[in-house]
Formats: sequence, structure tokens, C-alpha cells
Amino acid sequence: MEDLFGSLLKSESIFKNKEVLRSSYDPETLPHREKQINELASILVPALRGETPSNVFIYGKTGTGKTAVAKYVGKELYKKGEELEKKTSFIYINCEIVDTHYRVLQNIANHFIEKWGERIPFTGWPTDEVHAKLKEMIEKSGGVVVIVLDEIDKLKGDEALYNLSRLNNELKRARVAVMGISNDLKFTEFLDPRVKSSMGEENMIFPPYNAEQLRDILQQRAEIGLKEGVLEDSVIPLCSALAAQEHGDARRALDLLRVSAEIAERQGVKISDRCVRIAQNKIELDRVKEVIKTLPIQSKLVLLSTTLGSANNSLTTGEVYDIYRELCKIGEFDSLTQRRITDLISELDMLGIVTARIISKGRYGRTRHIQLSTSREKVIEILEEDDLIEGLVDYRPKIQERLF
Ligand code: ADP
Ligand code: MG
Repeated sequence: MEDLFGSLLKSESIFKNKEVLRSSYDPETLPHREKQINELASILVPALRGETPSNVFIYGKTGTGKTAVAKYVGKELYKKGEELEKKTSFIYINCEIVDTHYRVLQNIANHFIEKWGERIPFTGWPTDEVHAKLKEMIEKSGGVVVIVLDEIDKLKGDEALYNLSRLNNELKRARVAVMGISNDLKFTEFLDPRVKSSMGEENMIFPPYNAEQLRDILQQRAEIGLKEGVLEDSVIPLCSALAAQEHGDARRALDLLRVSAEIAERQGVKISDRCVRIAQNKIELDRVKEVIKTLPIQSKLVLLSTTLGSANNSLTTGEVYDIYRELCKIGEFDSLTQRRITDLISELDMLGIVTARIISKGRYGRTRHIQLSTSREKVIEILEEDDLIEGLVDYRPKIQERLF
């Protein structure tokens, strides 16, 4: 154990640059998105003539390149603006992080204030004042300001959108255009109709990638991210095929490749299909863990109840409910109605934690058979991390004896 890290460091890394294989990396080119890039550029090009571009909404499932394309086009727009000495600003905001009216206005204003003075604090100012400051700053900057609101469905309330959509009426020396991005096709349905019509002047939909397209994307990243000769030929096609099945998600494809490479590196082998399979299990388990950890307590109780079933022994809704009620008694939790529990089971099914199959019982109607989608031991292990649940785990066999 003398030189613990020294010997680890000596073993060759298979990465040239691991960051390249993360989804946060912005690649130089975006294969198979030429059409979307051109379309978005043609929507924004008025900015370079000093005219106001249309507002635009971009939809598409996760990993279809929405963020990458928006940032890419924004960067090019800004560069061209500098070159032509046409003032254009490009402001990118991720609403998963910046999720309130105040914070959105604060972020936009601070983009300009950086150059001129004191920044607006995270909280504390009246929203009106932030709005006034923002207007002042945009006027001072002049030109066209393109504001990207990524993950726009995470924004709380629509005041921010309402105010931004009206901003052009209040500005004299500057124009604003908003680009909203979302995974949720239904997002605009719930908006204030005025906001809806103003924001959705242009709409774009990003289709999922197919396996061949994902291959090109991975190939490009592997060439700059991995050392030569560390990759077996079948690995990229396999990662691409798996991610294509999943809904054509480039992020998932990249995660698979990166995690496979990490596994290969640790084992001191070339990246092979075996590494990909292990990576796939690891990613799935991490996902399940994350989902279970953030479930509300009642859903955790329902899930704990289903752990009494197993792969070849599924439980009916009624059986899960009986176990759940016993667990609630022992743990002194309020128990919900069977109707509510049925809903919670459907939610767990949608999250991919259990599968609930509807079985017809002929003239006795239908019932659902509920099974865990992941190994029981793993699920229990994750549930036990919750202090409220931990004490209940040991009661399961006793309840089983009593009920069945
Ligand atoms: P979305 O915003 O639609 O969820 P992203 O733009 O974040 O998806 O893309 C996920 C990952 O896949 C990012 O690392 C991105 O660089 C990469 N990616 C997506 N599309 C392409 C593409 N056409 N070429 C290269 N990389 C891509
Ligand atoms: Mg995105």
C-alpha cells in the first residue's frame, strides 16, 4: 500500500478527454441537425438587420439536441453580430435552475449589469424594480436581445413570460425575442392565451435520432474523447442501438459510452460489449435509486408492500393494499384508500419501478398483478435509507405469514 495513487496513476487512462463524453460538453459541429440549425438561424437572422426576430418554441424529447442547437446557433449569431457591428445579445437561461419570475428578470438584467455596475441580488428587490432595471439595461445596451428559456416548463407561473412578451411595447432602442425550449409538447396548452399567441409565433419540433445518427454522434465524440485503439468495433453500434430503443436519446447514448469506458478503464481492458451491458445496468440502477429516493412517503410504503411479491410471485392490488394497511398500522402512518393506492401503483408503473399488468378474471372482472421491475434486494436496500421506512422492513415477513 506504499504508493496507493502512484500505481493507479501509472495504469494507462483510456480517455484523451473525458469531459468530451459528458452531455455538458458543447461539440464544434452537430451532425444530423443541419436542418434545425438552418431553420433556427433563418428565424433569428432579422436580428442582424436590426429587426425583431419572431419568438420561437422548440419541442422534442430529451437528448434530441435542443439545447446543443440553441447554444450553437446563439454563439454563431453573437459572432456574426460582432463581425458586422450589429449589436446582438444572446442570453441562455436554464429554468430548471432559474425558476421564478424574479430570478429570470434578475438573470437577464445581470447579463448587462456585469459590464456597468452593481448586480441585482438573488432576492430582496421588489419585482417591479427588477423589471424597471432590466428595461433600463436593455435600452442602454440597445440592439436585439435573444433570450433562451430552456426547460421552460419548469418555470413557476407565467408572469415572467407575460412580461417578456410585452417588453417590446415598452422598449425604444432595443428589441427582445424569446426562444422557449421544452420536452413537453403540451406545455403551451396551459399558458395564458395572450402569452401563448405571442410566444408561439414559430414552432419547431426536434425528432428523435435513429441508431445510425446516434452512431455518427458517438463516433465524433469518441474520436476526441478516447485514445486510439481502446474501443472494440461493436461498442458504438451497441450503445447507439440501445439508446435508439430508448427514444433516440443522444444523452443516453453518451452516458452509455462514457460509463462503459470507465468500467473498462477500472478493469484494465478494452471497451467491449460486456462493459456496455454492465454500464447499462449501472445507469438503470442509478436511475431507479434516484427515483425511489425522491418518492413521497406514501409511495415508499406502497413500494415496500410490493417487495413481498417477487419475480415469479406477483401480488394483486388487493394484496398490496392489505400489506400496506398493516405496515401503516405498525408504523403509525395514516392509511389512504384503496383507490388512492391504485393511483400510486400506476405512478410507480409509469416511473418504471414496478410493472402492473391487468389480468382478466372472466366474469369476476379484472385485477392487476404487480411486480417489481428491479431486484427486490436492491429496492429494499434503497428504501432502508429512509429513516421512516427502515424500522418497517423487518415486519414484512410477519405480515406475510399473517395475511397469506
Ligand atoms: P436536449 O436539450 O434535447 O435534451 P442536448 O442538446 O442536451 O439534448 O443533447 C444531449 C447531448 O447529446 C449533448 O451532450 C449534446 O452535445 C449531444 N448531442 C445532441 N445532438 C447532437 C448532435 N446532432 N451532434 C453531436 N452531439 C449531439
Ligand atoms: Mg436540453
